[in-house]
Amino acid sequence: MTRLAAPLAYERLYIDGKWLSPTSQATSDIINPATEEILGRIPAASSDDVDAAVRAAVVAQPGWAARPVSERADAVRRIGDGLAARGESLLELLVNEVGTPRSLAQVMQFQSAVDVFRDVADLVTESQREEQVLNSVVTYEPIGVVGLIVPWNYPLYQAALKVAPALAAGCAIVLKPSALATLSLYALAEVIDEIGLPPGVFNIVTGRGAAVGEQLAAHPSLDMISFTGSPTAGRRVAALAAQNITRTTLELGGKGATVLLDDGDAVAAARHTVRSCFGNAGQTCAAMTRLVVPRSRLAEVEDAVLAASAEYVAGDPLLPETKLGPLISAERREKVRAYITAGLAQGARLVAGGLDVPLPERGYYVAATVFSDVEPRMTIAQEEIFGPVLAIEAVDDVEEAVRVAEGTPYGLTASVWSADVERARAVGRQLRVGSVNVNGGKFNPSAPFGGRKDSGYGRERGRFGLEEYLTPKAYHF
Ligand code: NAD
Repeated sequence: MTRLAAPLAYERLYIDGKWLSPTSQATSDIINPATEEILGRIPAASSDDVDAAVRAAVVAQPGWAARPVSERADAVRRIGDGLAARGESLLELLVNEVGTPRSLAQVMQFQSAVDVFRDVADLVTESQREEQVLNSVVTYEPIGVVGLIVPWNYPLYQAALKVAPALAAGCAIVLKPSALATLSLYALAEVIDEIGLPPGVFNIVTGRGAAVGEQLAAHPSLDMISFTGSPTAGRRVAALAAQNITRTTLELGGKGATVLLDDGDAVAAARHTVRSCFGNAGQTCAAMTRLVVPRSRLAEVEDAVLAASAEYVAGDPLLPETKLGPLISAERREKVRAYITAGLAQGARLVAGGLDVPLPERGYYVAATVFSDVEPRMTIAQEEIFGPVLAIEAVDDVEEAVRVAEGTPYGLTASVWSADVERARAVGRQLRVGSVNVNGGKFNPSAPFGGRKDSGYGRERGRFGLEEYLTPKAYHF
């Protein structure tokens, strides 16, 4: 795998089935976070470009919805196959663009995206249905034209989670990538162009959230906005969309807690949490970034966490042995460093990492950092850090463990460890989150994923994700 050198310059937007020159000259750079060099350049769509993309989607949508479901499923499958065919070169682009270590990127950035397209193609073939409800027949129709706004941390995968079900359901799309990681979504647009969807069914507009994103969220011709990103931007999107009564789904941040009960496997829980927290340098919404443990087992847990985190040495993401890559930008690095400073200032005990660990000279690296004696009132226990920082919180009983795990504004994921699965489920029932991992249970791509509280609403994956893009209609006989 190589470092991509010459900047990849994209000058056009994909609108109405054509590569069109934007009406503005504005561009922005994509920076390789491991080298701090320019990796690519993208255009910034003007408001006229966004309007043109929405208009194209509005015209295309009814025709796309009228195509046989098998045809739409086939198109979705061919997109997955087209991405898969790009193999190593697409993986290389993702590693250069996001900085995710190669071994993790292969699974979480590349294969995960391919699989979403293939899974949705299978699902939609099976799930086209209508229901009899007494004297009525209920059918499910596509919601219409959808605006999809995605973040940079898993750009292709996050886009796949929206694009695949939207297309399969019969919606037309205007996709807005993050201005920090756009290049892999140009690759998606190229694949879609190659397979030849009807013009206007898929459109991509690039640029900054405050301009392009807000225009989409406020656009009166969109029937739905599906947004993944921060709670701050999510609130803004929902407020803008509300003006037109546009349906929204919001996949926002997280502050996942691992809850180790007194009979749980401390070593396995520590390993699982460290992998979740430090993978992708902590830039994962679903990550377990807190470890809530019985005070009597604190020393044992700290030892296990230290042993597991020793592998996370910052290094070049292109190398197969690297487990900890850079953060996405200098700005993010500064934010994460400020959280570490706040942890120290508020009295948390540094167990590993911190600000004095030697790091590669270039690149936006932060060392894998573990704090213990973290108290719920501390900033590092409350806010989503989005960097490789783990907070260990000691508690005296299960009630306190639940209170601490529950005690943040977020509600995306949690993990519970106990020798007794029923005890673990009893704890899980008290947590207002979208999913609970019990004793390191295997990832299930058909299960719903999404949040509660400030982590948002709506679900992605499997039939739950598909249903977000459908609306029921009742015929009474
Ligand atoms: P972000 O909110 O800054 O940006 C996300 C997307 O929204 C980008 O495309 C951005 O350009 C756009 N955007 C920004 N401001 C906007 C606005 N005012 N109006 C419309 N669009 C706007 O988030 P980010 O930094 O790209 O991603 C990190 C955040 O995303 C974290 O909080 C993370 O937890 C969250 N996230 C959530 C999930 C999930 O499924 N729950 C998945 C990945 C990331």
